[in-house]
Amino acid sequence: EDRASIQVYEETGGVGPGEPVEPTYEPLSVELGPGLLESIYDGIQRPLNIIRDMVGNNITRGLTVPGLDRNRKWHFTPTKKKGDIVEEGDVIGEVQETVLINHKIMVPPGIKGEIVSIKEGDFTVEEEVAVIQSPITNHPRLPKRSGGQESPITMLQRWPVRRPRPYKEKLPPEIPMFTGQRIIDMFCPIAQGGTACCPGPFGSGKTVIQHQISKWADAEIVLFIGCGERGNEMTDVLIEFPELKDPKSGEPLMKRTVLIANTSNMPVAARDASVYTGITIAEYFRDMGYKVALQADSTSRWAEAMREISGRLEEMPGEEGYPAYLATRIAEFYERAGRVKTLGSDDREGSLTVIGAVSPPGGDLSDPVVQNTLRVVKVFWSLEDWLAYQRHFPAINWLSSYSLYSDSIRDYIEKNIAKDLPLLVKDSMKILEKESELKEIVRLVGIDALSQDDRLTLEVARMIREDFLHQNAFHELDTYTSMAKQYKMLKLILYFYEKAKEAVKKGISVEALSKMSCLEKIAKAKYVAEDKLEDIEGIEKEIDKEIEGLK
Ligand code: ADP
Repeated sequence: EDRASIQVYEETGGVGPGEPVEPTYEPLSVELGPGLLESIYDGIQRPLNIIRDMVGNNITRGLTVPGLDRNRKWHFTPTKKKGDIVEEGDVIGEVQETVLINHKIMVPPGIKGEIVSIKEGDFTVEEEVAVIQSPITNHPRLPKRSGGQESPITMLQRWPVRRPRPYKEKLPPEIPMFTGQRIIDMFCPIAQGGTACCPGPFGSGKTVIQHQISKWADAEIVLFIGCGERGNEMTDVLIEFPELKDPKSGEPLMKRTVLIANTSNMPVAARDASVYTGITIAEYFRDMGYKVALQADSTSRWAEAMREISGRLEEMPGEEGYPAYLATRIAEFYERAGRVKTLGSDDREGSLTVIGAVSPPGGDLSDPVVQNTLRVVKVFWSLEDWLAYQRHFPAINWLSSYSLYSDSIRDYIEKNIAKDLPLLVKDSMKILEKESELKEIVRLVGIDALSQDDRLTLEVARMIREDFLHQNAFHELDTYTSMAKQYKMLKLILYFYEKAKEAVKKGISVEALSKMSCLEKIAKAKYVAEDKLEDIEGIEKEIDKEIEGLK
């Protein structure tokens, strides 16, 4: 009736009785269209780089700048023609948004019919590029000749951030999203459209992992949401990200990236909104048929914003003061990930993979945000600071990390990479698990208590850790490893293990085996170039020859 509730996304200082109120007639929405890429937005899609040019370093109160530039012209090329029948989600034209990405202009949800006009040319996002007339029906129950309304189509769509964008069908997570990072791809892989979570104690290499995934993951669009981190950390992201290069094209990575930045001193409501703003933009690119990777850092800060808002609304607090609906909100957020058949009459497939970082206070994983996140995500990359102190990078603990996609992607791996790869991974994991047991024994009674077999297991486990899992993000050849190379590297280590086991049976000591010169070659396999993979196979022969020599 005459009451309205107002959601304020900005500083409320100074607001009081007597202030004029203007309705927007819609919930918080984002603008979707050409111009999203290369942008740096705040939590409610205000372009920060444009604001800085307008008013300097601080956003002044009440400043509104539209998310998409109203004056810039884009060249629109129709892919449909007059007279074509289209439905929601159909692509009617394209805009070359950046050198890397072709932006598809789609019929907005809720509109279908016949194209009565469409034109090529340079337009702003608000100018009409086509008109669609809804079908005329002669249904007996409807008034005669209903329909026939004309909907003008522009390149700009608006969408309320909290409502997931519609799609036709969700597909099972059967295709892996390779990242070129060995520990991830082999031991805790993520699927296209999957969800993952990683905690990041300070200095554990979280930023490096995020950059590596943005650069190398098998995704076309990168969305990065910096949520509630301190200003100086966010500054690092904003300075470093635009300097990253897309390794495949050599172009700046920003040409296929959207950044959302929300520091801890920005209003909490905007921080709460930022993850939704980000994921809505990500879904929009997914709808075009792209593979999108979204990273949110950190979802703990987002949950804290929720807690603050809930407190002010005087809601009943749940665990540790978080609202009782914390679990639902977290689940709803990750639920928006997925590989889908998009709307539209053609068979387009897009995927949205969501990777959330959590930063629980004191690194305590029993924190409600972490626990509720782990309940919904399927992959956990346990970044640990003690590994980073030992300079073992990526500092992902191989024993406590896991992936629940290993089974669903097995078929794909067996068909496309190698039939025996899942088995190799399983055997390697067994060796690493055995190592942690043996280390405990060594700690209690010393290495002399171990049999030759066990000592060999320790040696091979060391090789898996140092020669395979350890990966230097700053080495030109080591920074990315294709699946073919990862397979060959792991196979080589296990080949050595088999041969060494036989040798030990014949009475050769592990000490002698571990001094063989081919071990050096195995360790350097990571530096073999991607186009010289046969060199790795060559090492197997050297292993045979050297072991023969020991007998
Ligand atoms: P965090 O963001 O967790 O505080 P960073 O990502 O900044 O930590 O990493 C800290 C340092 O660790 C980096 O400056 C880098 O020297 C080192 N490091 C992290 N990951 C790797 C890696 N994969 N390879 C080599 N060095 C790494």
